[in-house]
Amino acid sequence: MLKILVSACLLGHPVRYNGRAKTARDAWLAQWRDEGRLVVVCPEVAAGLPTPRPPAEIQWRRSGADVLAARATIHENTGADVTAQFVAGARIALARAQAENCRYALLADGSPSCGSTFIYDGEFSGATHAGAGVTAALLRQHGIQVFAEAQIAELARELAGASGA
Ligand code: SF4
Repeated sequence: MLKILVSACLLGHPVRYNGRAKTARDAWLAQWRDEGRLVVVCPEVAAGLPTPRPPAEIQWRRSGADVLAARATIHENTGADVTAQFVAGARIALARAQAENCRYALLADGSPSCGSTFIYDGEFSGATHAGAGVTAALLRQHGIQVFAEAQIAELARELAGASGA
């Protein structure tokens, strides 16, 4: 069975920085959950960060790939550098995905970990730019296709077209 790594907050787990979930109510997601396809992870909580926690952003309008290449850092709005924890969380998520043989990931967009089409610019001003978070970037570097919650239908088409789905 083709499995999908999924952000815990999209499944209703209250693990976001603000102590809330980002529940995606979608028939496909419910079906995949019932089929046992979903491998649930929150990279930030897995790395030991508390909930709630201060918001964090990738600095200097850079992206997750830059963080992995040590060209950018991630700071909380308190100024604390949490780069190491975010990279550790990405590695834990990748290990889970590989252990479960996930070909796909469905991740919460906008997050400095899970964002896959956009992230925030590092100024805590609400401004966004095209880019991916650290976990999404690491998964892609290892051949896992990453989709955002606005792309569930696209993931469903991909899954239906894949052999052995
Ligand atoms: S790290 Fe990912 S799974 Fe965890 S709260 Fe943030 S977006 Fe959701």
